[in-house]
Amino acid sequence: MSAYFAGIDIGSTAVKVVVIDADRQIVGAKTAATGALVFKNAQTAFLNLLGEIGLERKHVSYLTTTGYGRKLFLDADETISEITANAVGAREVGKPFGTIRTIINIGGQDSKGISLDEKGNVTNFAMNDRCAAGTGRFLDMAARNLEIEVSDLGPFHFAAKGIPAAVNATCAVFAESEIIGLLGNGHEREEIVKGIHFSIAKRTIRLVKKVGIEELIYFDGGPALNKGLVAALEDELGRRLVIPAIPQVTTAYGAALIGLESHVYEQRERELAVPVVAEPDAVTHACAGCSCG
Ligand code: ADP
Repeated sequence: MSAYFAGIDIGSTAVKVVVIDADRQIVGAKTAATGALVFKNAQTAFLNLLGEIGLERKHVSYLTTTGYGRKLFLDADETISEITANAVGAREVGKPFGTIRTIINIGGQDSKGISLDEKGNVTNFAMNDRCAAGTGRFLDMAARNLEIEVSDLGPFHFAAKGIPAAVNATCAVFAESEIIGLLGNGHEREEIVKGIHFSIAKRTIRLVKKVGIEELIYFDGGPALNKGLVAALEDELGRRLVIPAIPQVTTAYGAALIGLESHVYEQRERELAVPVVAEPDAVTHACAGCSCG
């Protein structure tokens, strides 16, 4: 059986697991809720994915974890920061489009701007993890208040006929009352959704501008599944974004790739290691005068 490598991204909201083969190809990916029992839920998601793709734990040669809960997964061979894992994943997935120079990542409870040099190395990043506005949590709250699924936000955006509602609140708590107020004033849910997307897009761009916005721009994280938010970001930026086919798992994929490289490196080190020469028999030294016997 060939070697496999796993990356587990334990995010604040979702656990993402990716298994790749030695050719860097994804053989399976899974998303599950992080919940309160972080390690247990991550472990279950990992083992469930292995079962779905017909593998067992022993077939995984190297396991790398990333994300805010990465250190809780004690079975890992390596833990890596989500900035590095995101950059490595985006660089690989973005290859068919060119060299990715800017990453916009929106997660469950944070948003980030990451800039990369021509070789794909991280040169700078900016993060908002203090405020729920502009994160997946904000979108989840909005969907709940509008009584729709978070996966319906995209279709609602494109179904809006009127002007997007102005959602000005910069705080998720005030935005919640603002949304309720807009509904009370007779705004359609579609217009409110579109307004929320533009509000998040403006806020995200302000953050990413801190690291500089260069072509090509890659957008990932769970909210990148929302095509309405993608459209709002592209509209505000006046540029197209590179959106991966499975945007929520780029970081887990990057972690798996780093694991593959670490495994290859360790194997090479073992092969190159100088064979240990057997120690000569111990020579009993004649004592020069102390009383050690
Ligand atoms: P984290 O890594 O911080 O846990 P993720 O990148 O997994 O965050 O993103 C989680 C967020 O993704 C959720 O809060 C939700 O808003 C959004 N999301 C998840 N699935 C979908 C979907 N099908 N459509 C739109 N948004 C989604």
